[in-house]
Amino acid sequence: MATIIEGKKVAAAIRKEVKEAVAELRDEGLCPKLAVVLVGDDLASVLYSRSIKKACGVAAVECELFKMPAESSEDEVIDLLRRLNIDDSIHGIMLELPLPPGMNKQKVLQAISPLKDVDGVHPINKGYILSNGVGLFPTTPQSCIEIMLRNGIEISGKHAVLVGRGETVGKPLIFMMLNQNATVTVCHTRTKDLPYHTRQADILISAVGKAGMVTADMVKPGAVVVDAGINSKPGGGICGDVDFINVEKVAGAISPVPGGVGSITTSLILKNIIKAIELQKNAKNCI
Ligand code: NAP
Repeated sequence: MATIIEGKKVAAAIRKEVKEAVAELRDEGLCPKLAVVLVGDDLASVLYSRSIKKACGVAAVECELFKMPAESSEDEVIDLLRRLNIDDSIHGIMLELPLPPGMNKQKVLQAISPLKDVDGVHPINKGYILSNGVGLFPTTPQSCIEIMLRNGIEISGKHAVLVGRGETVGKPLIFMMLNQNATVTVCHTRTKDLPYHTRQADILISAVGKAGMVTADMVKPGAVVVDAGINSKPGGGICGDVDFINVEKVAGAISPVPGGVGSITTSLILKNIIKAIELQKNAKNCI
């Protein structure tokens, strides 16, 4: 039976580090503050912004929710983001996605200052991933890496097979895993003989969004399986992409859903606020 790699302990450890960093910043007279921008009333976004606010409260980070009606124009959203960019009391900006239909997502995301972009969605921050640079990185792919490293799983030198090349998880993860010195194979809908590829993996990461698509016969015995997928279950609740009950019998280690990758993302938003404050301090020193 596989070892279960829990996200909750990892999240708690990150939150502890953040709390300590926040205490130091407050001693210096700086009160970290996050702005969460919610356009419309997408239920998952409303719930996520609530959990972010709660996590901020625990870490003594201020959090203000900027709610805009779904009918807001693209320019109105961009205006708000620009005001938040130049507001020195705001250190991080998180724009809840998806945006209402009709908005140009890329144009809106580019309006967030890269120095305050705690969700790592600005093209400049995406670019920094390639060079393992000083940017703010997206939290879900980061969670996939943290859940392994902080559970004592070595990534360097391993063959990692990623299933999914989505903008949010799969694509950034390609370079983040390369930066961890893994050898990376990427699979998607056009991949021929997916099970052949997944069976080569020392580390198999699924970021697809299809319940039960990773089955036991697709996993090499002893492999590490990280499930980034989130799918709604018909009777309520969520599950990942991996057929957990059967894969658990073959894998060496496996992350559950819920309780795995998804439990770490909010803590990494907080960690990115601390990183954003450093970046903003350095940018001021350069002026
Ligand atoms: P996405 O943009 O929809 O990408 C899905 C990827 O899966 C695509 O690259 C697609 O291939 C690939 N795919 C679909 N069916 C496949 C199949 N049968 N075989 C092989 N590949 C297949 O998704 P995303 O936004 O990156 O998110 C991926 C998953 O992560 C979703 O379940 C999402 O809910 C979850 N997620 C979790 C968190 C968290 O906090 N844990 C946060 C964000 C997202 P093509 O490129 O060829 O179409």
